[in-house]
Amino acid sequence: MIDIRAELEAKTPGSKQAHERANRVLSQIVVGTVDMPHPVYIREAKGSRVTDVDGNEYIDLTMGFGPHILGHAPDVVTHALKGAVDRGLQWGLHSPYQDPLAELMIEAVPGTEKVVFCNVGTEATMYAIRAARGFTGKDKIGVFDGGYHGAHDYVLVAADTTSPQEAPTFRPMGDGIPALTQANTILLPYRNEAAFDIIRRHRDELAVVLIEPVQSSNPHMDGDFLHGLREVCRESGVLFLMDEVITGFRLAYGGAQEFFDISPDLATYGKIVGGGTAVAAITGRAEIMDQFTRQLEIYMGRETPGVASTFAAGSFNGNPMNMAAGYAAISHLRDHPEIYKYLAEQGTRLASEVNRFCMAEEIPAQMLSALSMFHLRIQPGGPIRNSWDFDDSMKQTNDSFYMHLLNHGVVVPGSHLAFISAAHTPEDVDYVIEAFKQSFLEVRAEGLL
Ligand code: PLP
Repeated sequence: MIDIRAELEAKTPGSKQAHERANRVLSQIVVGTVDMPHPVYIREAKGSRVTDVDGNEYIDLTMGFGPHILGHAPDVVTHALKGAVDRGLQWGLHSPYQDPLAELMIEAVPGTEKVVFCNVGTEATMYAIRAARGFTGKDKIGVFDGGYHGAHDYVLVAADTTSPQEAPTFRPMGDGIPALTQANTILLPYRNEAAFDIIRRHRDELAVVLIEPVQSSNPHMDGDFLHGLREVCRESGVLFLMDEVITGFRLAYGGAQEFFDISPDLATYGKIVGGGTAVAAITGRAEIMDQFTRQLEIYMGRETPGVASTFAAGSFNGNPMNMAAGYAAISHLRDHPEIYKYLAEQGTRLASEVNRFCMAEEIPAQMLSALSMFHLRIQPGGPIRNSWDFDDSMKQTNDSFYMHLLNHGVVVPGSHLAFISAAHTPEDVDYVIEAFKQSFLEVRAEGLL
């Protein structure tokens, strides 16, 4: 039996050195790949592959945490970027380069009337919440257990899964978050109709309910729950926000809104919309979105009483370089609808083959998935509905599994959230399926399964 940790360390001396150097200057864990004890450091990426600083090549399933639906550094985007760089990087002043991307977004999704660009998904959800509060005059927001909406204080909550789902409580995710910033956050149980009763009960205080249409921690395509939620929000006078930072332009060209045929009041985007650069956006009905047009008045202290104004500004918002990358990627996706068919076929094949294997081999693992996004959960017990069903007791097995997978040349990040892209060939997918199977068998040989 191989000592997997020693084997990986022997292959990656450059990553070890890079990690020692990084630890001296960075207080940040660059995303853990596996427990090696150093992550692999990537030197370059193209298509479905990344190459580490030692020259090892891997099939990448991280895909930048989701943006690279066309694969790493697709020519269509890099050409557009090269042209944009020569025109200048960032001006702060108006340019004609935001409108084309905004027009694409509006055409892609019926019900999208206006767009505001920012840089990352965290900002998008923060501004969207502000707009919802401004528009409704109410302060509370609802979020679901297992959801992620970025790194700002309002939404960084983790369910206390010892509390009842009908009255769930939460704790802040990490220190430094004042209790007051979360005093207006209500936790809702995901895929549980108790959430609808909680919304009805708090209708007079709730400005907006946010949901990831497909949760990255727990991917399911539960359209019935989404439609039910949309209706309850409508009846209750609570705005409904679909956080499409991952699902936008991934689940379908029109994102989860097209896939599930649901029109929210607000939506947020990031990742794919920037073609691999930092672009995020808030979209929605004009009457809500137009509050953002009055931010200059707010800044100058010249607000009109009785007219809602919402501030959302950033030095890099809508910069021409990133807009060019976003436009190149999104217009390419618009012109190549076959990409979505391909991703659905390959993604479904990947998940079902892995699940079939686990079932046949009685391996306690489930590949939760939604077309081209996956989250493997190795845990005892039956089907997973929401966070109350998560079980982290098999950590050692998980760690070992991902080390074996890496040794077979497949990278899945520490979050265990994986993506395939249009650049992953059917042969890549075959290889990945085989690598998953082999890794399970190797972990079993270690006595961990
Ligand atoms: N919303 C969702 C659904 C996300 O998945 C993420 C990030 O993964 C965010 C918001 C935050 O986006 P960002 O990391 O760009 O700030």
